[in-house]
Amino acid sequence: PIRVRIAPSPTGDPHVGTAYIGLLNYIYAKQRGGQFVLRIEDTDRTRFVATSEQEIFDSLHWLGLQWDEGPDVGGPYGPYRQSERTEIYREHVELLLANGTAYKAFETAEELEAVRQSQMAAKLPSRYNGAHRELTAAQIAAFEAEGRPYVVRLKVPVDGETVFRDELRGNIAFAHKQVDDQVLMKSDGFPTYHLANVVDDHLMRITDVIRAEEWISSTPKHVLLYKAFGWDLPRFWHMPLLRNADKGKISKRKNPVSLIFYRQAGFLPEAVINFLGLMGGGMPAPTEKNDTAEIFDIAGMLERFDFAKISLGGPVFDLVKLKWLNGEYLRKLTPEAFFHQLRHVLFSDDYLRQIAPLVQTRIETLGQFGDLADFFFRDDVTPAAEVFVPKKRTLEETVAFAGEQLAVLEGCDWSLEALETTLKALGTAKEWSVKENFMLLRAIVTGRTTSPPLLESLIVFGKARSLDRVRRFVD
Ligand code: ATP
Ligand code: GLU
Repeated sequence: PIRVRIAPSPTGDPHVGTAYIGLLNYIYAKQRGGQFVLRIEDTDRTRFVATSEQEIFDSLHWLGLQWDEGPDVGGPYGPYRQSERTEIYREHVELLLANGTAYKAFETAEELEAVRQSQMAAKLPSRYNGAHRELTAAQIAAFEAEGRPYVVRLKVPVDGETVFRDELRGNIAFAHKQVDDQVLMKSDGFPTYHLANVVDDHLMRITDVIRAEEWISSTPKHVLLYKAFGWDLPRFWHMPLLRNADKGKISKRKNPVSLIFYRQAGFLPEAVINFLGLMGGGMPAPTEKNDTAEIFDIAGMLERFDFAKISLGGPVFDLVKLKWLNGEYLRKLTPEAFFHQLRHVLFSDDYLRQIAPLVQTRIETLGQFGDLADFFFRDDVTPAAEVFVPKKRTLEETVAFAGEQLAVLEGCDWSLEALETTLKALGTAKEWSVKENFMLLRAIVTGRTTSPPLLESLIVFGKARSLDRVRRFVD
């Protein structure tokens, strides 16, 4: 049977790219009576975000995508969280060490850095120099006796090339000279993405790897790994990346990429799924006779989506079009269903309950609620220059400082303490007073000079939407 998977890493907000690839995998499996697996790739502990996994589940469920196997629903090939499979990867690394397709490398971080520096100075691509590829058993034993930490690397052949078939592109060849001796297992015993991904795709009986184009350059390493283990290859499908209008890979600078943003900003999941289904050209194009061909649900995609029609020109993620589509869906709602959306998405009890105490001490009549809290319910606010440029600053300086705020807030935990420490540290470093610093952010997010307490408001409004406002301001 056909088995496919998505393998998101819990490193931050759930990405629209994950939903797009998830949708394609889902359609591919369900059109063929197959299974759709969700695997959590959480082996990179430095980028791990604890809340991220649940947010991935919630966002995909919100969109109506359900997996047959995964960490939350179980299944015959679990566990489906890579951090719970480290023993499996260790055993598999031993197989490669034993058959000579991988080797231990004992260089220290400083030694590797020195190599990197000299390669940079010589304008050479930065690659592992192979110094420990051919250590003798005695050398290895000596390093081990010293207790030196080591990584395990893939022994990529020196000559020749690896060729694999991409179902959308035909054969793709990579000369081995271009393929680094990839680290498979780090010195802390955790596998890298490449090893864990291949081992799991094999053990989970994945028949088709359908993922974003940006992984093509990893595929030769994966193919070498399948061969090193003596395993059959899955089919590979590399989907065109979602692009900004300027054709760059979609990035949060140009478009919100967090699914949480779309949910909180009042996009309907049906519209988002429909929009993602239009990307990549797998659905029939609208004709004069059938100009509503662009509007479909998942059932319509199951019927008509054709993987053979996918075109490789980058699909443009056009927010204007998504909004248009969302408007179409809003208008199709019955008055009661529309009311339900307002009441449960925009004005949900949960949201109002968080906003109310921020406003309660600041108003004299209930009617003033709207004057003070409007920004919580709007798509955007556009403060005038006199609202956000502090007295002693220029417009240019102010926008530049907002860019600094954006940069530090992106990596910041969305808690009162973290926000306060992070913003104040930035202010001190750049010599912006607390007042200037906070007033600017207040103006950008709330559109006004007086508002409910700023940091509490940011928390209630949410990271995705707050930062979207800062991004739009900075651009
Ligand atoms: P960003 O640069 O915006 O942070 P990223 O690639 O670092 O993007 P990830 O969180 O690593 O973001 O991506 C999540 C998933 O979405 C990955 O599987 C990635 O392949 C996929 N993805 C990221 N960007 C795109 C895109 N433009 N089109 C399609 N898929 C994408
Ligand atoms: N963990 C990778 C990601 O973040 C998986 C890529 C793949 O599908 O192989 O998308």
